[in-house]
Amino acid sequence: MYKMTKIRREVLKVVSLSEQPTTAEDIHAALRGHANLASIYRALNWLEDMEYIKSVSFGSGPRYFFSKEKHYHFLLCKVCGKIQVIAECPLNTHINDFEKRYGFTVSDHVLYFRGVCKECKKRGKRRN
Ligand SMILES: [Zn+2]
Ligand SMILES: [Zn+2]
Repeated sequence: MYKMTKIRREVLKVVSLSEQPTTAEDIHAALRGHANLASIYRALNWLEDMEYIKSVSFGSGPRYFFSKEKHYHFLLCKVCGKIQVIAECPLNTHINDFEKRYGFTVSDHVLYFRGVCKECKKRGKRRN
């Protein structure tokens, strides 16, 4: 159960090399039929359990996987469902403060903002 199999290693490589958080479907496409979707999901679950990778999902949308070294914030469009990534962390200065105030050591955080993306705003204006 604790073995890094070929498929797990391949999936980990795709997730680690990806600049953006990636979905099981993206990985499936990147591996070009080397593995079926079900075994990719199993590999992803294992990698996350073993803390090689992290994931996040929003409502009914797909789950996004990313390397544990990476840290993302997301802009989630509630109209088209598109997800944009903010690379910089707007919270760094606040985390120390939270830790002091609550006596809590923060190891990780997930942050996303819901709203309407640029394209959907444009489309909305045209329609009105
Ligand atoms: Zn949108
Ligand atoms: Zn952050």
